[in-house]
Amino acid sequence: MHSILSDFIRQYESTRDLNIMVTVDTSWLEDHVRKQSSVKGPLSGKTVVVKDNINVRGLPCTCGSAFLKNYVSPYNATVIERIMKAGGIIAGKANMDEFAMGSSTEYSAMGATRNPAAPDHVPGGSSGGSAAAVAAGLTDYALGSDTGGSIRQPAAFCGVVGLKPTYGRVSRYGLTAFASSLDQVGPLTRTVRQSAELLQVIAGKDACDASSSETETEDYLAGLEKDTVRSVGVPFHLLEEGLHPEVKARFDETVRILEKHGKKIVEISLPHLRYSIAAYYILATAEASSNLARFDGVRYGSRNPGNGSTIDDFYAENREYGFGPEVKRRIMLGTFVLSSGYYDAYYARAQKVRRLIYEDFQKALNKADAILLPATPNPPFRLGEHLDDPMAMYLSDIFTVSVNIAGIPGLSVPAGHTQDGLPVGIQILGGLYEESKVLQLGNTLESLQ
Ligand code: GLN
Repeated sequence: MHSILSDFIRQYESTRDLNIMVTVDTSWLEDHVRKQSSVKGPLSGKTVVVKDNINVRGLPCTCGSAFLKNYVSPYNATVIERIMKAGGIIAGKANMDEFAMGSSTEYSAMGATRNPAAPDHVPGGSSGGSAAAVAAGLTDYALGSDTGGSIRQPAAFCGVVGLKPTYGRVSRYGLTAFASSLDQVGPLTRTVRQSAELLQVIAGKDACDASSSETETEDYLAGLEKDTVRSVGVPFHLLEEGLHPEVKARFDETVRILEKHGKKIVEISLPHLRYSIAAYYILATAEASSNLARFDGVRYGSRNPGNGSTIDDFYAENREYGFGPEVKRRIMLGTFVLSSGYYDAYYARAQKVRRLIYEDFQKALNKADAILLPATPNPPFRLGEHLDDPMAMYLSDIFTVSVNIAGIPGLSVPAGHTQDGLPVGIQILGGLYEESKVLQLGNTLESLQ
C-alpha cells in the first residue's frame, strides 16, 4: 500500500468516532493513488477530502441525504478534474448537513459529526465534515461549499482556515445545487498559504459553468507575503449586542493587533446587514425549492417502497420518505415565498434588499481596503443544543450570509480560543475578485497570532 494511503487510513481509523467521513473506499483509493502518482503538479502527493455534494466519478455523492445513499457519480466536478490534473489525491467524501442546509452537520442522514477540538460540540456546518477532516489531521486540504457560510462557519468552529471565493470565481459544475445564485466551492485548510495553493488550482473560467467568471485569476501565492491592505474597515455598530463576550474579546484583540501592526482601522457602517438573515432565508429557500424538484425518485433518489397510486402521490411519497425535516421545511418555505400573491411581498422584496446589502459593502470598501467581521456570533455550541430551534440555528449565520448575498469573497481565519479552549474565528472580506488581498491580510493575521 502506498504510504499516503496508509497514513490516511490510519488517521481515518483513529478518528472514526468523530464521524467525519461518509465514504472512504479503499479499493477505489488504491487505484486512484496509483494513477495519480504519475501526475506531477503543485498538489502531487497531497490529499484532498471532498464535501459529499461535489461529484467524484465512481464514488457515492449522498449530499448527506438518505434520498441519495445509493447514488454513485458518473462524472467529476470541474474542481475535481483540476485537482487531479494538479496531482492531488482525492481521499474520500466528508459528512455534511443534508443538501448543505444547516450550520452544525447534525442534519445529516449519516449522523452528526463531532468537533475534533471539542468532541461534545458541533463542528459547524454545513461543511462540518470537511472542516473537521482538516482539524483532525486527516488531510492536507478539503473542499467545502458555501451558500450562506458553510465554509467559513465550520472553519471558525474547528479552528481552521476557510475561504468562500467571489461568486463565479470557482466553477460550480458538479456541485449539487442548493441556491445557485449564492453557492460557491472553496478550500478548507490549516494555513492561509494552503488556501491560496488550492484556490490557485481550482479558480478560473469553466466552459461547463456559464456563471463562472471570465475575470482573470491572479497569482494568489506570489504576493501572499506582500500585504497590500493598508486600511481595515470595522462595523463597530454591529458589535454592540448579540455577540458572545468571548467572541467579542477575540475580535477586539484582533483589531488591536492589526492596529499595532500599522493598519489603519476605519469605522464603517453596514446598515442593511440586519436584514440579511431574512433576505437570505427567502432567496436561498426559493432557489432550493426549485433546485430540489429533481429529487423525485424517478430522475434522482430512492423510491418509497409504497409507491403511490397516482403520479402525484408517487412523487409526494418518495419525497416524504427521502428528505429529512430541515430540507422539507426549506422546500415548503421556498415554495411559499414564490407562490403567486406572495412573490412580490417576499421574493421580489428580498431581491431589492440584496441590492442594498451589496451597495453597503461597496460603500464600505470605498473607505477601506478590506473589512473585518466576526465569523460567528458564538463559539461552537453543544451537540443537540439548537436542534429543536431552527431559528437559533439560522441566527448563527448572521455574519456570513450577507457575504454570499453580495457575492464578495470572505476568508475565515482562527483568532484564538475561548477560556474553555473552543476555537473562535474572524472573517476578512474584500471586493469582488479581491481574493489576493483577503488572503494577504489573512496571512498577516496568521503570522501575528
Ligand atoms: N447555514 C446556512 C444554511 O443553513 C448556510 C448553508 C450553506 O452555506 N450551505 O442555509
